[in-house]
Amino acid sequence: MNKKMTILYEVGKNLYINITNRCPCACVFCIRNNGEGAYGSDSLWLEREPSDEEIISELEKTDLSKYNEIVFCGFGEPLERLETVAKVGKHLKSISKTPVRLNTNGLSDLIHQRPTAKELEGAVDIVSVSLNAGSAEEYLKVTRPRFGIGSFDALIKFAEGCKQYVPKVVFTVVDVIPQEEIEKCREISKRTGIELRIRKYDS
Ligand code: SF4
Repeated sequence: MNKKMTILYEVGKNLYINITNRCPCACVFCIRNNGEGAYGSDSLWLEREPSDEEIISELEKTDLSKYNEIVFCGFGEPLERLETVAKVGKHLKSISKTPVRLNTNGLSDLIHQRPTAKELEGAVDIVSVSLNAGSAEEYLKVTRPRFGIGSFDALIKFAEGCKQYVPKVVFTVVDVIPQEEIEKCREISKRTGIELRIRKYDS
């Protein structure tokens, strides 16, 4: 299999940063189920994880001012590399005014076995947490996390924690889930004070 090293790729007017293949979930709708490419990029599957220095070097060669957002998001869960997101994010904030977003499944506290929201302070402007379902049981069915049934409550707790350290936190849900699940997501959004964004499914 020919594996390339796509660290940066464009999606519309945003620049995406791909730093890991690792993920504790196996979502039924994951774009990884559709092959190696996504969003027009040849291959997002990394042969090895790029070092912090390699990521920063790629970013420094790029005109960041032409993008609406710089987004940590790839073929895996960025917070598997929490320290890298924190370091690269802080570096980005020092060299560019373009907002930095983190797309995450919100399971960082379980991955690292400690509260982790504080470590994102000063590194990202927006944390977008995939809620994916309105209940722990449905979440387990849809995302199949290796941490089991406690994953859903942990991601909500992580998102609430992020509110203390990051300017904006949002929950996202894909529009293919049943309407009753979306309603439950709206209730969680109301209860936590975290905005809910309903995304179109992108195959
Ligand atoms: S959390 Fe993201 S990368 Fe991981 S399996 Fe789900 S959709 Fe794929």
